[in-house]
Amino acid sequence: AKEDGRNTHRFFETDMGTAVSERRELITDLRHAIANSELELYFQPQYSLETNAVTGFEALVRWNHPKRGMVPPMEFIPLAEDTGLIVPLGEWVLNEACRRAASWPEHLRIAVNLSPRQLRGHGFGPVLIGALARSELRADRLELEVTESVLLIESDDILDALHQAKALGVKVSMDDFGTGYSSLSYLRRFPFDKIKIDQSFVRSMAYSDESVSIVKAVIDLAKNLDMTTTAEGVETELLLEMLKDIGCTDAQGYFLGHPMPVSQMDDLLFECQGP
Ligand code: C2E
Ligand code: CA
Ligand code: CA
Ligand code: CA
Repeated sequence: AKEDGRNTHRFFETDMGTAVSERRELITDLRHAIANSELELYFQPQYSLETNAVTGFEALVRWNHPKRGMVPPMEFIPLAEDTGLIVPLGEWVLNEACRRAASWPEHLRIAVNLSPRQLRGHGFGPVLIGALARSELRADRLELEVTESVLLIESDDILDALHQAKALGVKVSMDDFGTGYSSLSYLRRFPFDKIKIDQSFVRSMAYSDESVSIVKAVIDLAKNLDMTTTAEGVETELLLEMLKDIGCTDAQGYFLGHPMPVSQMDDLLFECQGP
């Protein structure tokens, strides 16, 4: 039937029994993958719309499965969250991202995605301090991206962990802004440095004036709260120009650059060194 949909919809197109045993197998494999360096980070450039220069990269994890090939994060991050494997996985991501970024030009930042579970309990503080110490990365070059689901869990642990990160000088961004139910109230609960405007809003700007108004309102709100705004999923030049016009500060997306493995970053990093 639908040939190209097969991989991404694997779990839903097979019958239930197969799906369950396949899930179990994938969990076993993932446990093995974390211990045996089958995971790899790709890096997607983020650009300033004021200077048109690269400001840093977002780390996006990839799983190079020996039999299945590249498994996209949408298939294994939820599994890792359900099973608790996200904790060792996330620790690996943080350490690897900091280690890589430490070798880049000094002005470039690294953004790392965090799942709520990584912030629960008291384990995250030491993990963060350890990653910064081991890599010798300046704390203000690290950004932590959290979705509002992080604050949805009414937990002091989580707020404490985010405040501890900020006290160290690490930046904190709200990811996927606009996709949840009460994004606005979360802006009051924690002092984010940056709002990342979700791709769904950005993309719909191309055909909807209402979307343009909403995105502009978010940008103005962020400015008033002393936060920067990164538009996600910028796929066309038209969108880039529209975002500039309404005052968005930063952008990320396929039009500007795809996520890439370390082996493909040399040219871009060289350009970032400046004259
Ligand atoms: P996200 O944090 O919202 O990351 C942005 C996703 O959008 C990435 O997908 C990226 O490749 C994709 N993207 C970037 N530009 C464009 C564009 O112009 N058009 C379109 N259509 N897509 C674009 P990816 O790498 O598949 O990651 C998916 C999600 O998996 C991420 O969404 C994030 O929630 C999660 N994720 C990825 N790496 C990690 C990680 O290390 N830890 C955790 N906890 N989650 C991760
Ligand atoms: Ca993100
Ligand atoms: Ca996002
Ligand atoms: Ca997302």
